[in-house]
Formats: sequence, structure tokens, C-alpha cells
Amino acid sequence: MERVSELEAFRAACDRARAAGERVGLVPTMGALHDGHLALVDEVKRRGASFVVVTVFVNPLQFGANEDLGRYPRTLAQDLEACEARGVDLVFTPDDGAMYPPGFQTHVEVEGLTQPFEGAHRPGHFRGVTTVVAKLFGLTGPCVAVFGRKDYQQWRVLERMTRDLNLPVEVVGHPIVREEGGLARSSRNRYLSPDERERALGLSRGLRAAAQAWAAGTRDAAALTEIARGPVEDAADSVDYVAVVDPTTLERLDGTVSRALVLIAAHVGPARLIDNLELGVDPLPA
Ligand code: AMP
Repeated sequence: MERVSELEAFRAACDRARAAGERVGLVPTMGALHDGHLALVDEVKRRGASFVVVTVFVNPLQFGANEDLGRYPRTLAQDLEACEARGVDLVFTPDDGAMYPPGFQTHVEVEGLTQPFEGAHRPGHFRGVTTVVAKLFGLTGPCVAVFGRKDYQQWRVLERMTRDLNLPVEVVGHPIVREEGGLARSSRNRYLSPDERERALGLSRGLRAAAQAWAAGTRDAAALTEIARGPVEDAADSVDYVAVVDPTTLERLDGTVSRALVLIAAHVGPARLIDNLELGVDPLPA
């Protein structure tokens, strides 16, 4: 496995791989890798990638002023070991100055899809995400890129950006990887004390309740929303949103629904947690 931090060396390595007939697979991350990230590595190989690239970059542009940029976990040595063990070919670890040199003044912004939910609660977040991912796509070149559906809205935003800008990238969304008990794996879970970790299960409990109601025939969006909300409100310190939305457009649904995604964001202790489930499609969190 190779590691590069220079932008042009990274671009050259991806170009070389393609010239040798490889299909490049890209897994962008902020490091502090866990089984959720490593499942994306497996997925990119399943999608035909023969040269697998993981990027590790804690992107300052996507953090708000009061967010956790300063204390975001950084575990590069373990990340490199985990990548090597999983059969990654190249890890790209640029620094802030290389990605955003003096004079940098160009941003990518997706409009409607970024407005609600994470966009409303984290102003500027998606602008930071789309800008860095557009740069990573530009450096990597034609590839298949895998993102986690844990960040469901982010995945939809990046699909939109890629389509709208005709970028030569196939964007894939991979299902959420959960811990035993149902908590969605997240680098931020390490902020949680044992008591907070227990309370964090309120999110997956809310999703499970909604999924069970769906399985029992409930199709009313307002009823499903309230069923999901109960366990989240009981457990979390505060709730940013619990919503039942169209899985493609992310528009809030009302009345009787035939396809629906439950989206949740809530604060537990020092962590802001997100989770989601497509009713009747995704497995029950267990
Ligand atoms: P992050 O390092 O948190 O920016 O995440 C990098 C990628 O891993 C994103 O595409 C995330 O959606 C994905 N990811 C993080 N946690 C999970 C998880 N539990 N299941 C599936 N994908 C995940």
C-alpha cells in the first residue's frame, strides 16, 4: 500500500493505475476509520474497482464555527494499518494548506437538496462537503466512489452534484453499518460515555419502532413520524429533527405514503448523532 500527501503525486498515481487498465475506486473519509468505513472499501471492490483509494482528510470547510473540528478524532497510524489489512492500494492524506492554498476562492454549492435537515442545522456544511468532494473527484479522475447512507442527505447531494456537473464518477450509496444493539457506527461515537452510548440507542429505537409500525401496515406519515420521535425524545438531550421524507427528493411527506425514509438528528451528551432508515427496505436496526 502506498501513502501520498502531495496533490500531484496523488493525481499521477490514479492516472498511472487507469493507464495500466485498472478501475479506480474512491472512498473519501475524515479518518478515525471504523467498520462502517471499511465496508465502503469492500463495496467499492464489489463495484469493480481494482485500484482502491481511501482519502483521509478532516475537511475544515465542512465544520461550523461551534462544531468539533478541533477535537475531531485523528488516528492516522491505525487508519493506515486498517486500510492495508483491507487491501487498499493508495491512501491520500493531504494537508489543509495543500487543499486550500492562499488565494483559494472557489466553492461548489448544490441548491435545493441542501436546504433542509443537515443544511438547516449546519449552515455551510454541505458547501464544504461538495467543494472538497469535487476537488477529490478532480484529483482522482474517472472512478467509482462509495459513500455511506448513514449520511443519507450527503449521499443524495453528492449524486446531484455529480450529475449536474457531469463529473466522470459513478456515485454509490452503501447501507448503514451498525454496532451490536443498533447504534450506527460513527467516528463521533467515541465522544460518548457508557451512559450516553446507552441513550444514543434512542435513535435506532425510534427507527425500529417506525419500521415495526410500517411492517404492521401503518402508512400515515404523521403517525410514523410520532412513532419514531417517541424513543428519540425519551433518550436524547435535544432533538434537531425527526422527519418522514421522500427518499429521493427529501421532501417531507404527509398523508398516506408508499415509499418513505425516516431521518433523525439528535444531541446526546457531547455528540450530535444522525441516523435514518428507509421503511420497508432497510433491515431493522438490531
Ligand atoms: P466520515 O469519515 O464520517 O466523513 O465518513 C466517510 C464516509 O463513511 C461517508 O461516506 C460516510 O457516510 C461513511 N460512513 C460513516 N459511518 C458509516 C456507517 N456507520 N455506515 C456506512 N457508512 C458510513
